Formats: sequence, C-alpha cells, structure tokens
Amino acid sequence: MIASVFGGLRRRSWTALCVGILTSVAAQAASAANCPGHPDAIGTSRTIVVDPRAHPVIGTMQYGKTLPLADREVVLTFDDGPLPKYSNEILDILAAHCAKATFFLVGSQARANPEGVRKVRDAGHTVATHTQNHPGGMDRLPFDRSKEEIERGIASVTAALGDGSAPAPFLRIPGLRRTDEIEEFAASKGLQLWSADFPADDWRDVSANRVYELAMQRLERKGKGILLLHDIQPRTVTALPRILREMKARGYRIVHVVPATPDRPVTPTEPKQWQLHPAPEMVATSRWPKVPKFASAGPAALPVPALSDLDWHTSNLGARASRRGRSVPLPLVAPWSRQTMLPPAGTLAALPVPARSIFKTPEPAGMTLLASFASRAASTAQARSKEVSSAKLTGKSRRHGHTTAAQPPAPAGHAEQSPQSAGATAPKPAAQAKRNGRSVRVAGLKKR
Ligand SMILES: [Zn+2]
Repeated sequence: MIASVFGGLRRRSWTALCVGILTSVAAQAASAANCPGHPDAIGTSRTIVVDPRAHPVIGTMQYGKTLPLADREVVLTFDDGPLPKYSNEILDILAAHCAKATFFLVGSQARANPEGVRKVRDAGHTVATHTQNHPGGMDRLPFDRSKEEIERGIASVTAALGDGSAPAPFLRIPGLRRTDEIEEFAASKGLQLWSADFPADDWRDVSANRVYELAMQRLERKGKGILLLHDIQPRTVTALPRILREMKARGYRIVHVVPATPDRPVTPTEPKQWQLHPAPEMVATSRWPKVPKFASAGPAALPVPALSDLDWHTSNLGARASRRGRSVPLPLVAPWSRQTMLPPAGTLAALPVPARSIFKTPEPAGMTLLASFASRAASTAQARSKEVSSAKLTGKSRRHGHTTAAQPPAPAGHAEQSPQSAGATAPKPAAQAKRNGRSVRVAGLKKR
C-alpha cells in the first residue's frame, strides 16, 4: 500500500521524503530520550559552547550581535532568583520538559538562599550573575559602584555554589541599563554581557496569559532568540508550561548555552552567525546608527539654512557667478518657501544695478534676495532709476545706500517669478544695459 502510494514519486522526492521522516522520527526519539517519562516534553535539542571573550555582548534588544542560533531555536533565561517559592517551581517545570536554561542570579538572593543556587547548578542549568543588589539604575550609578555590584554578585554566587567553582562568566545588567564603561569593564573581566532578543514583560503587572501571548508573539516575529523571563514571578510560573508546550507544538527547539572551558571546546561557528538577524519591520528595536549617513541625504533633506548662513549678498557673489557660470543657480538653498518679515518700505535698502545673470537665479535665490533686502521688483525699479538717471548715481547708492523710492515689496511667494517675468516687470534696465554694451557687474555687491 505504501509502495503504491509512493510508487509514482520520483526517486529524488522519495529520498527526500525518507530523509525528512527519519529526521523527524530521530528528533522525537532524541527528545524522548532526553526526557524519560515525559514524551511530550520539548527537551533540549543541543548545547552550544561559547567563548565570552570572543563575543563580549549579545542580544538584539541592544546590540547588533546575538547567539548563533538557527531558525526556531530558543534560549531560555531567568533573572532575579533564587527565590525559593517560585524558583523551585520554575525548576520543576523545566525538569518536566527537560529544558535547560541560564539563570542570572542576584548575589544578595544567593546569600540568602545558597541552596537555591546549588539546585540550579545540580539541575544542569547554567548559573550566571545579575549583580549583588540589583540596582535599579545602574547606568546612573558611579562607575565604581557598578563595578562593585558586578564583582560582589559574582563573589556571592561563587560562595553559594560552595564547591570552589565559579558561575559562568555571563552577566546581565539589571534592567539592561548598560553603559560603555560597564561594557568595557565586563569585557576586561572576560564576562559576556547578555542582553536579550525578546522579553515577555513578566515583571510587569500583567496576567499570566499575557506573558504567554507576548512570549509567543515576539518569538514568532523574531523566529528565534534569547527569551528573557524571571523565576521570581508567579505569573511566570503559570505561563511557562504553556509557553513550552506551544513552542514544541510550533516546532521550536530549546538550546542550552554554556561557557567554554579547557575541557569544553567552543562550538564552531561562522562570524556571520553572530550578526544581527534582520529584524522584521514590525519588531521595535532600540538600535540607532552611530554615524548619520550624510552621503545619502539629498538636498531636500537638509535643514533650511539661516539667512545668516548664506551671507552671499555680502561677499563672493561675483566670484561664484564667474566660477559657476550663468546657468548654475546661485546660491544653493532649500527648495521650499518660507515666510520672511520684510522691513518697512521706508527703510528698504537699495541694490546696485544687478547683472542679467541675477535674473536667472532660481526661485530660492530670488526668495533670499527678497528676504535680505527687498523685492526683486523694488530692486529692479531702483536699478532702472539708476540706469535712467545715471547722473544721479552716487557712491552712496552703490554702497547699498538707503532709499525711499522702493516699491512695495512683493510677497515672498512671488519669488518664484521666472527671469522672463522679472524682466517683464522691468525690461528697461537689462535692455538698456545691453544696448549700451555695458557689462553690469555685481562688484558693488562685493563692496558692501
Ligand atoms: Zn533583574
């Protein structure tokens, strides 16, 4: 019957199917073998050995690196214990699932309950540390205090272990309140700083069902990673069995992490396996680029420059004009309009006769011209008066002397007039200058 069903399959498909079936059976057998008496346990699929010095920080909630996990692999972590009432229940649940985890123990808790530390170790979990007193704002503590918290936490857990062994050189900062100094200090001590890939908010006042939902939803979004839980919360005790059952049902696997020792070589990995797996768009992260990518920002992304930044009306305009040629806009300004307060008409400054090229400037330049002195129309009118009555031209007017002959300024929005329309407003100066063969320069602008 089976042969007839699969008889039509091509040899390659048949082989692949067999391999798939065997793999699945083997995985279930391994899970069952890992957890005698608990056929439905998720078990622990594998153990990875890491070198903290090679990877001093991990966890995509804060870093661009995390553990080298395959898809659907999960690392369980529990913080803040040991607290007998709940920690023991967490240990029992994990034992019933043959799931191995990492416990970040608080030094003061370890001193109060050293037996709890030994229970974690004897159950085969990884014992790590979480400072001595779990300060709430470690990023605001004096650095010496932070160092002391870390070192005393390790000392307390070491004392609680009672066999001369030390906890794993894995450290989680309370509240993940890391600082550069703390990271550097941890690295100098050979400690691996563990952030996490996703929490389940079990320290908050939420229901156990909510803890379950957050754990599974965030895991689904990430696809794998370090789950941050707490073994001192009743809601975690309630949620954990359901989380483990659901993980197994959805095909997730538990991975246990231990530090390398002289007798325990590092699990071979590729550097890229430690790199941040691209987070889906819907996953919120706290990562920001350290260096803004100015190169990718186009002119439209630039802030509006202050008029004082431009300063083109006082210097270098002639040089820029000759350097860039008439067809190149002068100067570069942001391509959006702005509201600018113009001085009263009676106080408007007059410009000397502008060159024709001035009228070819794009709207922003014209706009700035308006913003700086007066409307182009006013300038043109002034220029016309100079051209027509050259005898009246005085040195004072060449130096932007005041005038009372200015026309009412045009609104700033009118700065988008084309050179042609500007010329239509006052065609005479340019035409007359052309007829006279004069090259009307902007040297007067340079004098100020
Ligand atoms: Zn904590």
